[in-house]
This record gives sequence, structure tokens and C-alpha cells, in this order.
Amino acid sequence: MLVKDIIAEPMKIHGISGNKSNITGRVKELMERVGLSPEHIYRYPHEFSGGQRQRIGVAKALALNPSFIVLDEPTSALDVSVQSQILNLLNDLQRELDLTYMFISHDLSTIKYMCDSICIMYLGKIVEMGTKDAVFSKPLHPYTEALLNSIPVPDPKLKRKRVPLSGDIPSPANPPHGCRFHTRCRYREAICEEVEPQLEDKGNGHMVACHFR
Ligand code: SF4
Repeated sequence: MLVKDIIAEPMKIHGISGNKSNITGRVKELMERVGLSPEHIYRYPHEFSGGQRQRIGVAKALALNPSFIVLDEPTSALDVSVQSQILNLLNDLQRELDLTYMFISHDLSTIKYMCDSICIMYLGKIVEMGTKDAVFSKPLHPYTEALLNSIPVPDPKLKRKRVPLSGDIPSPANPPHGCRFHTRCRYREAICEEVEPQLEDKGNGHMVACHFR
């Protein structure tokens, strides 16, 4: 499929009216908006680099003038320098088009750069949520604590006291009884194996699901 048809696909699916030249004009405008040459709409995806293909994906997401976009691991397959270009593009678009993003990632450094509010999930359940500042400066859930501990420090002289997680990740299709994290938690007690903790507000909307936090 040509890039032109890929970007125009959502408009066609939603029956956006307009003649062929209107749609082509809109596709060219979107290409430009994401930093690609409008002349390249007649190329195929394999003729673009990974970062450019990601830009095409962003152009397609913008085709219907959304106010909310879900970004699921948008930079995971890219090398670091291209990652930062895509993140900067997303930030620019957010500001210019007044967009709201739901940004899904395993990369906490990226999350810190992009997000205002954060939900930490373990085996399909939210275990902690709050503002970026609250979660990063005062993590409450043992899983969040371990995740933050695993972020590399970009200074060879500084050493972080690592607390590695033990055990394998259980199957989300058959999660452990009680607290889903109990098989890997160094703070677990008997109640953790029996009773599933619920999310509770610990102040200012900083919520955690743990019996002891
Ligand atoms: S409820 Fe228990 S097992 Fe679960 S995170 Fe808290 S201390 Fe750990």
C-alpha cells in the first residue's frame, strides 16, 4: 500500500467526504506536519527508515483531527537518537494541536519525559497512580520501587543500590491469588497471599494497592 493510502485510510473508513484531490491535499499537509516531504506520498513504507515510518504512523493518527491519541510503545523499536526526535515531534504536536496522549511504555525515562500523570501496572492491574513528581520522588508500591531502581544512572562514578526483583513473571492469564505481586515481593506477609489489596488514596490523589503502604 502506498503511504498516501495508508494515511488516508482512517478518512475512508469514517466516510470523510471529499474528492480525490482534497484527500491527497490533506495527506500532503499531514506529511509536512510530521516533518516528511509531501512529495513522498507515492512511496511504499519499506522505502522509509524506522523513524520516518513512525512519523507516517503519527500522520495517520492525526488524519481525523483527534483530541486524544493512544501511543503504545511509540519509540520502542527505534535507536536512541531517533527516539528523541519522535518524542520531540509528539511534544510539538501536543502543544500545537492541544492533544491529550495516553502514553504506554516500559521505558521509565521516556515516561518521565513525556507524562504528567502515571499509572503503574502489574499483570494487567493498576498498582500505583499519581502525578509524575509524586511517583518518581516517593514511589509507594514495591513494584514501582523496583522499576525505578532499575533505571540506569548515566554516571559511572555513581552507583545505585539495586534491589533486583526475584522470581519469574507469572502468567497474566492465571495471576497469583491475593496480591498479584506477592510471588516477587520482598515485603510480603501472609495476608498478601489471601487478600487482594485495593487502590487507596494516600493523599493528593497518589494511589497505591498494597496492604502495607
Ligand atoms: S500487598 Fe504485600 S505482596 Fe503486595 S505489594 Fe504490598 S507488601 Fe508486597
